[in-house]
Amino acid sequence: MNQPIGERASRGSLTRRDMLWLIGVVSAPAVLPTLSGCAAHPVTGEKVLVGLSEQDEINIDRKQAPHQFSNDYGAVQDDSLNRYLGEMNGRIAARSHRPKMPYSCRALNANYVNAYTFPAGSIGITRGILLEMDNEAQLAGLLGHELGHVNARHSAQRVGQSMVAELVITGVSLAVAASDRGSDWAPIIALGGQIGASALLAAYSRDNEREADSLGMAYMAGVGYPASGMSELMGVLVRQSSEKPGLLDTMFSSHPMSEERLATMRREASGRYAATGSASVQRERYMDQTAGLRKLRPAIADQQTGEQAMARKRLPEAQQALTSALKAAPDDYTGLCLMAKCQIAQNRRAEAQAYLAQARRVYPTEGQAMQLSGINLLGQKRFAESQQELNRYAQALPGDPDTDFLLALTHEGLQNRQAAAQSYRRYLSAVPQGDAARHATNRLKSWGMVK
Ligand SMILES: [Zn+2]
Repeated sequence: MNQPIGERASRGSLTRRDMLWLIGVVSAPAVLPTLSGCAAHPVTGEKVLVGLSEQDEINIDRKQAPHQFSNDYGAVQDDSLNRYLGEMNGRIAARSHRPKMPYSCRALNANYVNAYTFPAGSIGITRGILLEMDNEAQLAGLLGHELGHVNARHSAQRVGQSMVAELVITGVSLAVAASDRGSDWAPIIALGGQIGASALLAAYSRDNEREADSLGMAYMAGVGYPASGMSELMGVLVRQSSEKPGLLDTMFSSHPMSEERLATMRREASGRYAATGSASVQRERYMDQTAGLRKLRPAIADQQTGEQAMARKRLPEAQQALTSALKAAPDDYTGLCLMAKCQIAQNRRAEAQAYLAQARRVYPTEGQAMQLSGINLLGQKRFAESQQELNRYAQALPGDPDTDFLLALTHEGLQNRQAAAQSYRRYLSAVPQGDAARHATNRLKSWGMVK
């Protein structure tokens, strides 16, 4: 970059590359937990090194979960489905080793196939994976597995292990940041929705997975589901991963799957838990609760095609699939956001704005369309409107330093150097390193506000 992005923004000459950089800048959450030493494993009672106290787990969860859920296009706007998931999860969690954690569960509007949990038990299940399952016992297996991660405190342990590695090297606390900024296309791939889970969610070890499986099976069988629901779920996922490669990449990278896991669960279901085999899998109830979602199946399939085409830089193909998705479901929030991203990637900012405006109308409280709209308006030199959207976003999803960075650019556009400097400083106090931090520091230097 030969000219500062703030200057280019104020002249309205942001290139497509700048836009991608801005979008890339806003997608790497950072966690700075405090060291809290050893704790007893809640399940085995053994001492394990954990980097997080229970209060840390709750704080990280509260801070990060809303942002990740928004990355996945927010909770589905189907209250009865969310209530159903919440109640079911609550029932299983009540039988877990940490029944007092603040558990919650919602279906997310994302299309990729995955489920994840934050360390205090905020669980998200994508509509993509809900469509792959066909009975409640499988869902119970999925929830049991996620609850297993919370109960065995896998996030806290992982932070503990990486902190030790980090302490050896630098003697300072851990910083988590993993994103590929090298490629012009990395942000668009992230936009495609396949990536997104923060580093804290990524990659449990195989041992963690085994432990979550076996805890999960005990929990779900304990509330009366046939234990085979868990192995059935794994079978479905393994089969789908060969039929629809790509869609399950995130699932398998955050929860490594193996034949061995599947075989173990099958053995346990027909061995130790054989008595649960006569219980109902509750297929009808699951089908009733997901009826609304299943009506969207054709649109979701088109969106999945569109997302994969975007990830492969095949924009006309993506456009075609997303057009077809919107024909089938014109008011689908995810479909509208994806189409807006596809327009941004093709440098069609006015078109993108129209889709974002529609997305804002169909889901006024969800943050992602506000954020994209703020960035896209910035790209069109509509600084005051951009600022308005970004302020709304900051209200809906507080605590995101990237918003300060973007607000600084809008202040620059409005020739308000003092306010811009303030926003850059706020950004730097949260994110002292990286491309955007360098940019912020250079701006402050060029104004003589820091040495
Ligand atoms: Zn897992």
